[in-house]
Amino acid sequence: MKFVIATGNPGKVKDFNLILSMMGHEAVSLKDMGVLCDVEETGTTFKENSYIKAKAIYDIVKLPTIADDSGLCVDALNGAPGVYSARYGGEGLDDRGRCLKLLEAMENEENRRACFKSAICCILNDDTVIEVEGECEGVLLKEIVGDNGFGYDPMFYVDKYKKTFGEISKEEKNEISHRRKAMDKLKKELEKVL
Ligand code: IMP
Repeated sequence: MKFVIATGNPGKVKDFNLILSMMGHEAVSLKDMGVLCDVEETGTTFKENSYIKAKAIYDIVKLPTIADDSGLCVDALNGAPGVYSARYGGEGLDDRGRCLKLLEAMENEENRRACFKSAICCILNDDTVIEVEGECEGVLLKEIVGDNGFGYDPMFYVDKYKKTFGEISKEEKNEISHRRKAMDKLKKELEKVL
């Protein structure tokens, strides 16, 4: 089955494609569909935002659509940047700029615990909406290490590999990522209804 991935982020499309292909499905990007649509994320939770994004795209393509809303929640910052992860530090910053901003905010913090969270909304048809969530725990380093991945990957260190997400391969990341955990739940739910 083909699933339209409601994101303009090529990193996420790659992640989804890897996971979906393992399930015998295919990820199609908005670019592949020729859909140009920037959906405003007006929700206050990952779950709300993933539904808003999936619904906006589903209403256009009328094909099974998956959207995820994700972000990094830092203990010492009371869960920030959270749903604002993509916009952290304001307009004009790139991924590296946002990492540097977060490093600065965390400069004097002892508690480095952080958690990537992902909420996935899958709209299969007019009557079937599946919503799932996944988390991945780690700690924030005091520097940026590695060129792989995207977003906050190079400062997010995980115990399993004793490396940052920026140092491991996408296959390794997909073994344990927040998105993978949510996708595993989505897989189970899809198997029930398809
Ligand atoms: P959104 O889900 O597109 O609203 O944005 C999520 C933002 O959270 C991204 O732009 C990244 O900054 C961050 N993020 C989400 N998932 C990951 C990940 O797997 N690695 C690194 N950063 C992530």
